[in-house]
Amino acid sequence: MYLSKKLFLTGKYRLPLSKKLFLTFVSPRKRMSYDDIAACEDTANVDDLFDRWESEKNGILRVIHESPHVVTSVWNDPSRYSNDRYCSSYQLCPQCSNISHLSDSQRSFMVECGSRAGQKYNVSSYSTMPSTVVKESLKALVSRLLQINPEVMKCGTDSNSANLTYLASNPFANNLLVSWIVGDTLRNNNIPNREHVAIAYSCAGHSKLVVEDAKAVDSKLLSTPDQVSALIRQLVVVYHCLNENSLNHGNPVISSLKYDEKAIGYLYDGILVDCPFTLMLSNFSLSTISFGMSRLLPESSSKWREQGLLFGPLVKPASCQTGFCESNTYTITSKNLSLFQHMKYVGCPLFTGSLDLYCFLVSLACMPGVMGLILSGDSLRHTWSKLWTIKDRETIEKRVSRVTGQPDALQVLSLLKDLELRCDLLNVLVDDARG
Ligand SMILES: [Zn+2]
Repeated sequence: MYLSKKLFLTGKYRLPLSKKLFLTFVSPRKRMSYDDIAACEDTANVDDLFDRWESEKNGILRVIHESPHVVTSVWNDPSRYSNDRYCSSYQLCPQCSNISHLSDSQRSFMVECGSRAGQKYNVSSYSTMPSTVVKESLKALVSRLLQINPEVMKCGTDSNSANLTYLASNPFANNLLVSWIVGDTLRNNNIPNREHVAIAYSCAGHSKLVVEDAKAVDSKLLSTPDQVSALIRQLVVVYHCLNENSLNHGNPVISSLKYDEKAIGYLYDGILVDCPFTLMLSNFSLSTISFGMSRLLPESSSKWREQGLLFGPLVKPASCQTGFCESNTYTITSKNLSLFQHMKYVGCPLFTGSLDLYCFLVSLACMPGVMGLILSGDSLRHTWSKLWTIKDRETIEKRVSRVTGQPDALQVLSLLKDLELRCDLLNVLVDDARG
C-alpha cells in the first residue's frame, strides 16, 4: 500500500546540478545511493522501505564477511550507509525523510500499514559517527596469549583465534554490527528471541538507531519461579545458538536484557520454549563476536595495557578435588581481575558459554526477590546448585544477600571473585533445559 502523495514532498536534498541531470536517466527501480536526490522515492511504500533497510544491512555484513579490510570505508559509502552532514528541519537527510513518511516524530513511530502494521519502533540518538578499523596488532597479542595459556582453548577459546581479522568499532557501530549478526544467527535458527535493529544512519553530526520497541527486564516481570525459569531457559537457548559466533557480551547484566510481552512457543534442539514473554539480548556496544573469519570488538580506551593481561595458567583441568569432576574451571582473582574486566578489548573469545551466563545469572539473582524465587522452585534450585561447589554456593548466596541496588558488570565480576567457575556451564544449563 502506498502512502499519500504529500509524503513525497519531504525529501529534498542539496545536490549539484550536474548530478540532478544525471539522475534523470537512472531507472527508478534501481536502488539509489543516498547522495542521489531521488533516494527516497522508491521507499514511500513502507514494506519497500524496510526491505531496502534489510538489503543495506546485508550489504554491510557482506563486506565484513568477504572483505574485512575494506570495512573501514563502509560508513562513508553513500551506496551503503546514509551519512548526511546537512540534515535540518528545512532539508531532511534521506533517512529522516524516510522516517517522516511514517511519523511526524523523529523519536518513535508505529508502522500503520504493510506487513509490519502495528509494530512500534524507537529512534535513539548518539553524539558520535560510526567508525571501524582493522586492529592488526591483536593477532600477535592473541597468539601470545594462546602460547602462554593454551588451556584457555578448553574453556571457550577457538584455536583459530590468532588467525582472525580483528575489527574494532566505536560503541555505536559495534552495537549496530553485533546486534545485526546476533539477529541474523537467531533468525537463521528460527529463534524469535531477537531485538530487531532496523537501520542506523548519521545526520548533522549525530547517529541514529531505529530499533523495534521492547521493555527493560525488571522485577515486576519476575514474580514467580516459573517466570524466572522462563527467562533462564530463553537465555540458555540464545547462548546455545550464538555459540557458533562465540559471543562475549561485554556487559552481561540485567540492563542488557529486554523483553516483549508476546508469548512464544517453539522447540529448539530438544529444548521446549513455551514462555509468556519474549526475552532478547540487547546493548552490544562492548560485545565481541565472530563472523566468518572476522572478529568484531569494541575499540579500546588507552587506559589499559595489553601486555599486562598476559597471565599464567587461567584454566584448571577437571578434578574431583575442586568439586567439579567433569569440567575445567577458572577463577577470577584480585590479580587477574583486570583481564576479565578488559578481555573485550583483547577481542578473542575467552570463557565463552560460561562467564556471560554466570554474570547474567548472578545479576538476575541480585534483583529484588529473585534469589528467594530461585531457591523456592525445585528445578531452579537444582540448576542453581550445579553452578557452584558446595562451599562456593554458600559464599555467593551470602554475597548476593548483601547487595543493595543492581550491580554493574564490574561489581558482578567482584561477586564472582575467588569462586570456582565451570567452563562447561552452557552444556550443563542446556542439559537441564532439555530435562
Ligand atoms: Zn537526518
